Amino acid sequence: MNTRQLTLDGAEALTLGSRIVDATARLCDLPVEMPRTDALQSFVKQETIFVRLRTADGSDGVGYSYTIGTGGGAVLSLLRETLLPTLIGLDVERPEAVWRALFGVTRATTVGPITALALAAVDTAVWDARTRRAGLPLWVAAGGASPSVPMYDTEGGWLHFTTDQLVAQAVEAKDRGMGGVKIKVGMPRGHEDLDRLRAVREAVGPGMDIMVDANQSFTVSEAVRRARLFEQVDVFWFEEPLPAEDVEGHRLLARSTSVPIAVGESMYSLGHFREHLQRGAASIVQPDVARVGGITPWLKIAHLAESFNVPVAPHFLMELHVSLVCAIPNALYLEHIPQLRAVTTDELRIEDGRGWAPSAPGLGIAWDDDALERLSVG
Ligand SMILES: [Mg+2]
Repeated sequence: MNTRQLTLDGAEALTLGSRIVDATARLCDLPVEMPRTDALQSFVKQETIFVRLRTADGSDGVGYSYTIGTGGGAVLSLLRETLLPTLIGLDVERPEAVWRALFGVTRATTVGPITALALAAVDTAVWDARTRRAGLPLWVAAGGASPSVPMYDTEGGWLHFTTDQLVAQAVEAKDRGMGGVKIKVGMPRGHEDLDRLRAVREAVGPGMDIMVDANQSFTVSEAVRRARLFEQVDVFWFEEPLPAEDVEGHRLLARSTSVPIAVGESMYSLGHFREHLQRGAASIVQPDVARVGGITPWLKIAHLAESFNVPVAPHFLMELHVSLVCAIPNALYLEHIPQLRAVTTDELRIEDGRGWAPSAPGLGIAWDDDALERLSVG
């Protein structure tokens, strides 16, 4: 008897109802709930790319990815012209096989943001269909480490806020039970950043975490200088101090400061994370499920980080990331930035500063189909 043959037969049997028979995509422009400004850019609308799948047995899967304002049309076009036709006949019970098939037809344009965002829209839909068919919430199906995780707030820390606004919003976040607040940095002079951070520290006291985020805006020497200043107010992590591709710069910076270095929101492949981890250039990783190509690679990044004793605090997309951080044992924090209220009928459950993964089967995001229709632009 041939074991390989048995495995293939088993897979064939599994595919009867779970084969994809229909796949569509659309683009919606979601208004931001609050203007968001950092050292490099303003976030004025979220282009959100949706993929909807149907399997032979009538199960649905809805997935999504996003851009912060440009390139959504390119993602939609890649999906419609190349990826969705490839999906027909593939099996939602085999996300690795689906991902490899899509990766195979996009080799000429991989690995980069457009392809990764398109793969993520499909992969999250595959996981939605797969876990709905299994009757399991995503956080359980993907590992089930813990039903809830601590959260920190970013909405109160944008760069355009005055010091008084930063302080008021940090105190409000603390009152809501948030474990930390993230303050954007990158003011022209280091003492301006420090003055803002010091005011927040004095207001919230020593028991709340303060993260800082430079959105890749510094040189290595300036980042080393600012990190020394930030140490004075016991900063919890220093996020994206340098351009994302500067692995050696992150390594040198991490050696020079006691503040943990957090990177990952601008990385698009497993290999990019591996390089940072291998070289000691990342103390915390922040994979974004849309930007890394979906749940399938996101889980690999999280497990890879675990092997380096590095925790995970994913970037943005709290409505989806809550299920992923609850799946893994090395979760650190979930970032609080609400963005889907315009197109959902339910909200992420937050109690005492902890985010709770949805218990409904699938991704557990209750989409408002009428709102999606209304906000559709492509
Ligand atoms: Mg950031």
